[in-house]
Amino acid sequence: MNAPAPEGCSHLEAADSRTAAVVPSGHGCVECLKAGGVWVHLRLCMTCGHVGCCDNSPGKHATKHFHGSAHPVIRSYEPGEDWGYCYPDELFLEELPARPGEAATRHYDPPHHTRK
Ligand SMILES: [Zn+2]
Ligand SMILES: [Zn+2]
Ligand SMILES: [Zn+2]
Repeated sequence: MNAPAPEGCSHLEAADSRTAAVVPSGHGCVECLKAGGVWVHLRLCMTCGHVGCCDNSPGKHATKHFHGSAHPVIRSYEPGEDWGYCYPDELFLEELPARPGEAATRHYDPPHHTRK
Protein backbone atom coordinates (compact mmCIF):
# COMPACT_ATOMS: atom_id res chain seq x y z
CA MET A 1 0.00 0.00 0.00
CA ASN A 2 3.00 2.28 0.37
CA ALA A 3 3.68 3.21 -3.24
CA PRO A 4 6.97 5.05 -3.53
CA ALA A 5 6.14 6.60 -6.90
CA PRO A 6 4.44 9.96 -7.16
CA GLU A 7 1.64 8.72 -9.41
CA GLY A 8 -1.65 10.07 -8.25
CA CYS A 9 -0.07 12.78 -6.15
CA SER A 10 0.10 16.03 -8.03
CA HIS A 11 2.05 17.65 -5.19
CA LEU A 12 5.00 15.26 -5.40
CA GLU A 13 4.85 15.35 -9.19
CA ALA A 14 5.09 19.11 -9.10
CA ALA A 15 7.94 19.04 -6.60
CA ASP A 16 9.77 16.42 -8.63
CA SER A 17 9.48 18.38 -11.86
CA ARG A 18 10.23 21.82 -10.43
CA THR A 19 12.81 23.80 -12.35
CA ALA A 20 13.69 26.41 -9.75
CA ALA A 21 15.35 25.54 -6.48
CA VAL A 22 13.90 26.74 -3.21
CA VAL A 23 16.24 28.62 -0.90
CA PRO A 24 16.49 27.08 2.58
CA SER A 25 15.51 29.64 5.23
CA GLY A 26 18.54 28.85 7.36
CA HIS A 27 20.63 26.22 9.07
CA GLY A 28 18.00 25.22 11.56
CA CYS A 29 14.29 25.17 12.31
CA VAL A 30 12.91 28.70 11.89
CA GLU A 31 10.64 28.56 14.93
CA CYS A 32 13.12 26.73 17.17
CA LEU A 33 15.88 29.22 16.35
CA LYS A 34 13.54 32.04 17.39
CA ALA A 35 12.28 30.37 20.55
CA GLY A 36 15.45 28.60 21.63
CA GLY A 37 13.95 25.18 21.00
CA VAL A 38 15.74 22.00 20.08
CA TRP A 39 15.18 19.65 17.19
CA VAL A 40 16.15 16.16 16.08
CA HIS A 41 16.01 16.32 12.29
CA LEU A 42 15.23 19.05 9.80
CA ARG A 43 12.76 19.21 6.91
CA LEU A 44 12.68 21.61 3.99
CA CYS A 45 9.43 23.01 2.56
CA MET A 46 9.43 22.55 -1.20
CA THR A 47 7.18 25.56 -1.71
CA CYS A 48 8.90 28.34 0.20
CA GLY A 49 12.14 26.94 1.65
CA HIS A 50 10.97 27.00 5.27
CA VAL A 51 13.23 24.80 7.38
CA GLY A 52 11.32 23.10 10.18
CA CYS A 53 11.86 20.30 12.64
CA CYS A 54 10.58 16.74 12.25
CA ASP A 55 7.83 14.97 14.17
CA ASN A 56 10.38 13.43 16.54
CA SER A 57 11.26 16.94 17.66
CA PRO A 58 9.28 18.63 20.45
CA GLY A 59 8.11 21.47 18.20
CA LYS A 60 7.07 19.46 15.11
CA HIS A 61 7.43 22.71 13.20
CA ALA A 62 7.61 21.19 9.70
CA THR A 63 4.15 19.69 10.21
CA LYS A 64 2.90 22.89 11.84
CA HIS A 65 4.22 24.83 8.86
CA PHE A 66 2.14 22.63 6.57
CA HIS A 67 -0.97 23.23 8.67
CA GLY A 68 -0.34 26.95 8.76
CA SER A 69 0.65 27.43 5.14
CA ALA A 70 -0.91 24.50 3.23
CA HIS A 71 2.45 23.99 1.52
CA PRO A 72 2.08 20.28 0.75
CA VAL A 73 5.56 18.83 0.19
CA ILE A 74 8.75 18.63 2.25
CA ARG A 75 12.03 16.90 1.63
CA SER A 76 14.59 15.87 4.18
CA TYR A 77 17.07 18.57 5.11
CA GLU A 78 19.61 16.07 6.37
CA PRO A 79 22.80 15.08 4.56
CA GLY A 80 22.50 12.01 2.36
CA GLU A 81 18.69 11.89 2.54
CA ASP A 82 16.73 12.50 -0.64
CA TRP A 83 13.20 11.51 0.28
CA GLY A 84 10.18 13.71 -0.07
CA TYR A 85 6.80 13.60 1.64
CA CYS A 86 3.36 14.89 0.73
CA TYR A 87 1.24 15.84 3.74
CA PRO A 88 -2.22 15.92 2.12
CA ASP A 89 -1.79 12.48 0.53
CA GLU A 90 0.52 11.06 3.23
CA LEU A 91 2.82 9.74 0.52
CA PHE A 92 6.57 9.27 0.61
CA LEU A 93 8.75 9.57 -2.46
CA GLU A 94 12.02 7.74 -1.99
CA GLU A 95 14.00 10.08 -4.17
CA LEU A 96 13.14 13.70 -4.60
CA PRO A 97 16.50 14.95 -5.83
CA ALA A 98 17.70 18.27 -4.49
CA ARG A 99 18.24 21.15 -6.85
CA PRO A 100 21.43 23.17 -6.39
CA GLY A 101 21.54 24.75 -2.95
CA GLU A 102 18.67 22.72 -1.52
CA ALA A 103 20.56 19.89 0.13
CA ALA A 104 22.03 20.14 3.60
CA THR A 105 25.77 19.55 3.42
CA ARG A 106 25.85 18.50 7.06
CA HIS A 107 23.52 17.94 9.98
CA TYR A 108 22.77 21.18 11.78
CA ASP A 109 22.40 21.02 15.53
CA PRO A 110 20.39 23.44 17.67
CA PRO A 111 22.67 26.35 18.73
CA HIS A 112 22.90 25.47 22.40
CA HIS A 113 23.74 21.85 21.78
CA THR A 114 27.37 20.93 22.24
CA ARG A 115 29.22 21.60 19.04
CA LYS A 116 32.15 19.59 17.87
ZN1 LIG B 1 0.03 14.99 -2.78
ZN1 LIG C 1 11.20 23.49 15.38
ZN1 LIG D 1 6.44 26.53 3.01
